[in-house]
Amino acid sequence: MPAPPSLRRPELPQVLARRQERARYLREDRDFIDDEAIAALLAAARRPEPARVREALARSLALQRLEPDEAASLLMVEDPELWAEIFAAARGVKEKVYGPRVVTFAPLYLSNLCINSCLYCGFRRENDAQERCRLSPADVRREVLALIERGHKRLIVVYGEHPRSSLDYMIETIETVYATRSEGGEIRRVNVNAAPLTIAEGERLKQVGIGTYQVFQETYHHETYRRLHPRGPKADYVWRLYALHRAQEAGIDDVAIGALFGLYDWRYEVLGLLHHAIELERCFGGIGPHTISFPRLEPAAGALWGPQDSPYRVSDEDFRKLVAILRLAVPYTGLIVTAREPAEMRREALQLGCTQTDASSRIGIGAYSRCVDSCRPAAADQEGQDLHTQQFLLADLRELDDVVHELAGLGLLTSFCTAGYRCGRTGSRFMDLARQGKVRDFCLPNAILTLKEYLVDHASARTRQAGERLIEQHLAAIEPRLAGRLREWLAMIENGARDLRI
Ligand code: SF4
Repeated sequence: MPAPPSLRRPELPQVLARRQERARYLREDRDFIDDEAIAALLAAARRPEPARVREALARSLALQRLEPDEAASLLMVEDPELWAEIFAAARGVKEKVYGPRVVTFAPLYLSNLCINSCLYCGFRRENDAQERCRLSPADVRREVLALIERGHKRLIVVYGEHPRSSLDYMIETIETVYATRSEGGEIRRVNVNAAPLTIAEGERLKQVGIGTYQVFQETYHHETYRRLHPRGPKADYVWRLYALHRAQEAGIDDVAIGALFGLYDWRYEVLGLLHHAIELERCFGGIGPHTISFPRLEPAAGALWGPQDSPYRVSDEDFRKLVAILRLAVPYTGLIVTAREPAEMRREALQLGCTQTDASSRIGIGAYSRCVDSCRPAAADQEGQDLHTQQFLLADLRELDDVVHELAGLGLLTSFCTAGYRCGRTGSRFMDLARQGKVRDFCLPNAILTLKEYLVDHASARTRQAGERLIEQHLAAIEPRLAGRLREWLAMIENGARDLRI
């Protein structure tokens, strides 16, 4: 028998809000992912007519977002010559929307405390081999100084789901990141990867001045999701699926989606991501996700399930295909490839359509400064990786300077630009510019200016030489009046000016 109202413990506001907001966006009690419909779409698209594939490519090259049936046709292509056309079109779309720039960032893991039990994750609550810790404000400052020293301007801060990683802790640590400065510069944009929030919590998070808010669904396939997320708040598929709807309602208009490839069929997950993008567009005045991530499942110390157990491991060949098709399906959305991938695959993915990548990444807690008060001094167990405090293994541990140098050799400008959100080019403003192919009008000059800052302040001699040469090549190719203005600003940077942007 329920206790009379006067004897019940008062409900926490978050618990109440969660209960009220959980079903807020369902239609006829159903979420927007229809497993059977996606499977039927893929089955119907087998051996697509080349004309139909080329029609989809043409729409994408005209910067139109594809419909799920068009994307399904591309996903089911078998002919290698048609695949060559798909890859070429993906490169074309990337060039048209974003030009030759690659935005770079670093991940900063704040804690490895988590109350969830995701079977594939080293942070799952039952994993006793993890040494649990949470960075104090002093630790955060040290980590941020180490990242500034390397030349970073943009971070993604990552929190496990735990009462000790509460919203108050998130706000405090993000404020600490922004307040940390040194002669080497400062962090100008903080993106956030955190557990789903209520609308009121999202409103508070927005106030602290975040860039993008990222929640990955991991897998869109309901049954697989249920099996791999057996306990904890994350076991609630619907609460997670609509996290970015609530964020949008809270006023956070740069949101990011993602799936962990290898949990279920990769073709299915691509369509799940596309449905998610379409649903966000439908509900929020055409504003789709700002970025999409597609990490591949990696081994994790203490995980109960991993790549060795999965029948859905994604081969390199299929990974290239999924990058190309995502590029084509949502031309206006940034694509992120991370240091989970080995250097060679990252190179390919960046040329195929990815627009952002991390560098000098370490994901052990306190791993950048290796000098942490709140937990034992992090020790690198394996080439800079700390198996006792990190979530999974990275494949590419190269320093930022090496990545900048490599990209310069490929003709790509490493961009440290953070102007977008600071100039109000977020949400619908960003989407409109991207759909008209105008993002590169801002991105290219800002990439040149921020790369120059990096070259002057942080680069090795060989990277500076390669970077200066690359900047000259791009200046020679752009409209003379703009080139003249940029040359003036580049001279100002040489003389000490910082944070110039368009
Ligand atoms: S994947 Fe995320 S939510 Fe799941 S156990 Fe790991 S840190 Fe926690």
